[in-house]
Amino acid sequence: MEKEVNRPLSIAIDGPVSAGKSTLSDALARKLGILHLDTGAMYRAVGLYALENGINPASEAALEEVIGNGWAAVSLEYTDGMQITLLNGQNVTHRLREEAVGAAASAVSRYPAVRRYLVDIQRQLARKQSLLIDGRDIGTVVLPEADVKIFLTASPEARALRRYTQIISSGKKSDYPTVLQELIKRDSQDTSRKHDPLRPAEDAVVLDTSALSFEETLSKLLELVEAKRDRKT
Ligand code: C5P
Repeated sequence: MEKEVNRPLSIAIDGPVSAGKSTLSDALARKLGILHLDTGAMYRAVGLYALENGINPASEAALEEVIGNGWAAVSLEYTDGMQITLLNGQNVTHRLREEAVGAAASAVSRYPAVRRYLVDIQRQLARKQSLLIDGRDIGTVVLPEADVKIFLTASPEARALRRYTQIISSGKKSDYPTVLQELIKRDSQDTSRKHDPLRPAEDAVVLDTSALSFEETLSKLLELVEAKRDRKT
């Protein structure tokens, strides 16, 4: 069979909140020399739009109106390989990590109108170039034909501890039991929602990082990608 030399490479990384997807995906994409598309940032941008415009992120009718009228236009740019997320042409990247924005993202992401709008953009981007895409539904919905599918996970306790340490080291106050409780709530929202719930694709490699360091996880990911790539060429 003829080799598809020009087809862009697609790597799908899914997993629950605080599994380390973003940082690991950034590092892995750099090693592979391809761009990293953080889809969570796109849902966060729509959540931010709702928060800033007095729209209830839990109202499906309101979100349908926002998306239908093109009021929350999400687009992406890359500077030195880093993703810049734009909302109506404004760079909002620095606002997206706020806890309230994460909660709003989780709420708006339940609605098909929001999902269809963002999934379309993600597919268009993946058609044009090789990408490592991270999210919740990449291997199952966005790119079921992805070359490599990885489901990155860790126990709720390990993920909450990482998140707690991150918050404390950024100089903010936090307490572990609340972080754990919030994380379990977000997991349950993401896995139980009706549309495109979080779950590993049948052909995904599930990697539990509870007992692995960042470097150990990164080298395992590299091994997985190289092995799959070798098999394809
Ligand atoms: O990954 P991150 O925490 O930035 O994602 C924020 C929220 O956006 C998640 O809790 C999830 O509800 C939603 N999301 C999604 N599908 C994706 C990426 C994120 O539903 N592909």
